[in-house]
Amino acid sequence: MLMMMQFDAVNLSYCLARLAVEVLAVEVLPMKVEFYLVEQLCYLHCNEYLDMDNWMGMKVAFATELILEEIGKLNSNKGLNLNSPTDYLVARHNFEGCVNIRIPSKEEWEDNSVINEHETSVYTDASITKTGAGIGIYSEALNIQKSYRLKNGCHAIQAEICAIREAARLIWVSGKPLRDVTIYSDSQAALRSIASKTVRSKVVMSCQEALSWLRGDGVGLRWVPGHKNVVGNIGADRLAKLGAGGNGAEVMDSPLPPISSLKDAIEEIILEKHREIWQNRNDCGIARNLWPKIDNNRTRQLLKHKKNLVRIAAGVVTGNCAVGVNLQKWKITDDSSCRECNEEEETIEHLMCWCPALENRRLQTMGQEFLDGLEDAAEMGIDNIMSFARNWKCFNARW
Ligand SMILES: [Zn+2]
Repeated sequence: MLMMMQFDAVNLSYCLARLAVEVLAVEVLPMKVEFYLVEQLCYLHCNEYLDMDNWMGMKVAFATELILEEIGKLNSNKGLNLNSPTDYLVARHNFEGCVNIRIPSKEEWEDNSVINEHETSVYTDASITKTGAGIGIYSEALNIQKSYRLKNGCHAIQAEICAIREAARLIWVSGKPLRDVTIYSDSQAALRSIASKTVRSKVVMSCQEALSWLRGDGVGLRWVPGHKNVVGNIGADRLAKLGAGGNGAEVMDSPLPPISSLKDAIEEIILEKHREIWQNRNDCGIARNLWPKIDNNRTRQLLKHKKNLVRIAAGVVTGNCAVGVNLQKWKITDDSSCRECNEEEETIEHLMCWCPALENRRLQTMGQEFLDGLEDAAEMGIDNIMSFARNWKCFNARW
């Protein structure tokens, strides 16, 4: 069964790789490739997935090399190092379970019913500032007040997890008999990551390991609301800020950058490549005039509409709709003259820019009676173009 699953995964990767190479060969790079590329990078980084003796694995690796080479060529001078290690970990399953984690509601905190007076509390916090990242661990009962500076900075959630891991270590080395020890953190995201049974982050895994040393001693994790005057939380926050500021705080190696930083960099490169291809094309004149650059916001704006409106917008923007010149080309009618004004040939440009019959509608929807050319509409929101075009006869034509 396991072998079959592995075979399917490799087979699927192989198909995707082939697709990516085919697509690269014809020089159109859809965004989908990026996801595949990142997936492959994860596998390559961990050296755990691909079996190089397997001929199919060889082909996947080969295809991946081609993609990397392509990306590398594009970006050799941008400081992206695809071989740099990341915090990503091929999924590990924590079947033993983690320490007890509780996220009390804000109301429980307001009622003062969370902190048990017999427990030993250890508070943790992280601070990310322009000058750097720091963590703080504070416990009155165990006499701990520690600040650390994280080398080269890191993401906030990683820092919060580091703080909890360090708290676990300090509790362990304190050597005191432990009963009812609670580690507090104000990051629910960090606590949820640590509670997860499937781990894909090295820093989460190391934190789970540190906590597992204490599991037998009745240690639990608990959420505390930040900036709500809980004394221990204020103490940990102050220590974390001290660490972020530098000033003599002990320096600790940061977690490796999250895989998302590599994804962002790859996304940027692919977007750049996509833009370059789009801008250097000789065809798709109407589309390149009305949609001159790759613009994700505009795409989102378009796709939030109902299918019928998206169809209309796509028809206008690509020129592939039933305007007179197309109907004549497709041999559906003999007459290509404008059905709105009957004065000129019915083209997208004529309808968009200067058909006199649409003067008022243009003013209402695009704020201008006439446009000089399609480039003028490129700056307009896709909503304006859609509401201008939705009543054109070519979109209601029944022939
Ligand atoms: Zn007209």
